[in-house]
Order: sequence, then C-alpha cells, then structure tokens
Amino acid sequence: MDLTEILHHLGEYDDPTFRTVSPPIYQSSNFDFKTVNDFRAAMANEEHLPIYTRGANPTVRLLEKKLAALQGTEAALCFGSGSAAVAAAVMNSVSGGEHVICVDYAYSWTKKLLGPFLGKYNVEVSFIDGRDPESLAKAWKQNTTLLYLESPTSITFECHDIAHFIAEAKKRGVTTILDNTYGSLLNHYPVELGVDMVVHSATKFISGHSDVVGGVVCASAKRISSIFMAEYMTLGATMSPNDAWLLIRSLRTFEIRMRQAEIQAKTISDYLENHPGVKVVHDPFLESHPDHKLALEQFSVRIPMFSFELNTDKKEVVEVFCNSLKYIRLAVSWGGYESLLLPATVFPHDLYPLSLMRLYIGLEHSDLLISDFENAFKNSGLLS
Ligand SMILES: *Cc1c(COP(=O)(O)O)cnc(C)c1O
Repeated sequence: MDLTEILHHLGEYDDPTFRTVSPPIYQSSNFDFKTVNDFRAAMANEEHLPIYTRGANPTVRLLEKKLAALQGTEAALCFGSGSAAVAAAVMNSVSGGEHVICVDYAYSWTKKLLGPFLGKYNVEVSFIDGRDPESLAKAWKQNTTLLYLESPTSITFECHDIAHFIAEAKKRGVTTILDNTYGSLLNHYPVELGVDMVVHSATKFISGHSDVVGGVVCASAKRISSIFMAEYMTLGATMSPNDAWLLIRSLRTFEIRMRQAEIQAKTISDYLENHPGVKVVHDPFLESHPDHKLALEQFSVRIPMFSFELNTDKKEVVEVFCNSLKYIRLAVSWGGYESLLLPATVFPHDLYPLSLMRLYIGLEHSDLLISDFENAFKNSGLLS
C-alpha cells in the first residue's frame, strides 16, 4: 500500500455518526450492548471488538492498523510505552529454564529486563558482540529460544549484520525480535528477512512532537493474538485513546518529518566531521564509518542521529561546550521536533569515552544548529 494512503486514509471514515475529518477519540473505558446476543458475540472476540479499553479501543485499533501497514506486518499491538512493548514481546517468547541471546549495547532497560528482571524467573541471558558473527556462534545453547536484536545500537551506532543473525536463528527454530526504533517504520528490511517481531518506542519518530510515551509490537496476526491474550491483557500496559489519537495526528507528518530530518542530518554530520574541534563522528551514514555498507543495505532513510567525540580529554571543556548551546537542548530521548544532545558524561558509569555525545537532529533549520555549535566551539576554546 502507498505510504500516503496509510498515513492519511487507511482505516478512517468508519465513524458511524459523522464523517469526521480527524478521527474521533473514543475516550471511554467501557462499551455497552443493546442485546445479550451482541454482548455474547463481543465476549467471544475480545481482541477485535470493543468491550473494555484495556482490550480493544477503536482509536487505539485505528493507530494499530496504520502501524502494521507501515511496518509491513499483518498486525500490531500498541502499549503504554516502548519498554512495555519490548517486555510483552520478550515475555511471550521465553519461559523459565530457557536461554536468550541479546546484542550488547541494546537499549539499557531492555538489558535490565533480560538480565536481572527475567533472571528472577529463571531465564538465562547471554550478551554478544553484535559486530562479531563468531560471538553469536559461540553463544547458542540447547535451550536458546530467543535472539534479541537492535541495529544500530544506542549511543555507539554500530550496525549489525541482521540478515546473518536472523538466518542463523531460523536454522535453529529460535524466535527473533528486533528493536527497530532507530530504523523507523520506513525500514522494512528486517520484516523482509523474516524477523518474527519488530518493536518500536512510539515515543520517538512516531510521535515526533515530544508529547506522548508509547510503544508497539508489529508481527503476524497469530503472534499478536497470542500476546493480546497473555501479556497485553494480564500486565495491562495499555495505550490511552487520547495518546493513540495524538500519534495518528503525528503520522500525518511522518514522511515529511523523516525526509526533512534526512537532509538536516547530512548537513550537520558533514559539518561536524570536518570540524577541527571534533575528534570523530560515529555516524554509519558517513563513508568513513566502518559500518557504512551495512547501513546503506539496511536503511532506506538516513537516521537523523549519531554520536561524536570532541577533540579534548578535559571534562571542563566538554561541560563548557554543552552548557554553551542555546537551541540544542540537553536531554534524553529523541524523535521530536527539537534537537537534543546527550553527553555521555551524565551517565552514572564510564562505559563511553569522556567527550562522547549523542546528537539527535530535529526540524530546526541547519543554519541555526550550526550557529549554535559554532558558538559552543568558540566558548570552549575548541576552534584553534
Ligand atoms: C526509547 C527507546 C526504548 C524505550 O521506549 P520508551 O517509550 O521510552 O519506553 C526502547 N528502545 C529504543 C531503541 C529506544 O530508543
């Protein structure tokens, strides 16, 4: 289906009363029935018919229809956060006594879920170096049932050979989940390779306005039904109808936001790579990056985010640089209209080089962002 048809038309015009242009928000926790017969029919199909909003809500269902079509899967299920979506997909795939393999540098809370959290339920996890196929080859166990992937990875922007990983898992009948939040819904590559489930934090590109926290699992109708009847209904990490409506609103501009971000990202990445105050830019879309070939193979749209290191090993210089920025804000998360910088020095650990920082490029004009950086380089003495 055509992208614009999904974003602007799919699933709409279903309102029984008026032909609303913007779909209605069914802000109702409960739905009633005219007859016992209707009630009984709905109870037998709780996944698809509105009974109670922890189950099927029409506004959330409309969003799910669009997200499944965008990701190229049969079905989708929305959650109150990306982490809830990750947890539901993972918990649906493993039981106590089984073993999970996960790439290193996956999203931090995903690693906590797979490690200490599921450890309590006797699930074992091995973290592997996603850049090294040998690392996967050595990690398989008799009881491995899930391979969890994320490419590129948080903060470091390594790209992994997910085609190889998925093929290896398929040979062994092991379920695969890919966190495709960075790759965006426009990236169908993992679905074409046969990944079993794709998860996204809807908080990021899908929202695009920094006003909603949400998540989605995209998969076959069979897997989505299985998650609905188990993790979704029992754990109850539901997305509110109002948030679903905001995300439908966000999807109207999804394509143009992604296209604009792509142009901006190239300009800023090139600017930083050629700047004397910068030691290195970790952007797989730069030719100089070791994973450039993989990035071109895996992503149809450039990811407007990367990290870079300043040409200094002094903490004070890093701080003056960051504190000098006026438009680029210091914050976690990404995907909104505003550019954001996350300096590694704020982390309570020292896994990353001292001057490393992640940059998300928003919708502000690149001239404004570059003037902001110029000022910060000048203030921190990194120009000479
Ligand atoms: C933000 C994020 C998550 C978690 O999503 P929330 O909506 O914050 O719960 C998971 N994976 C990736 C890659 C993320 O960036």
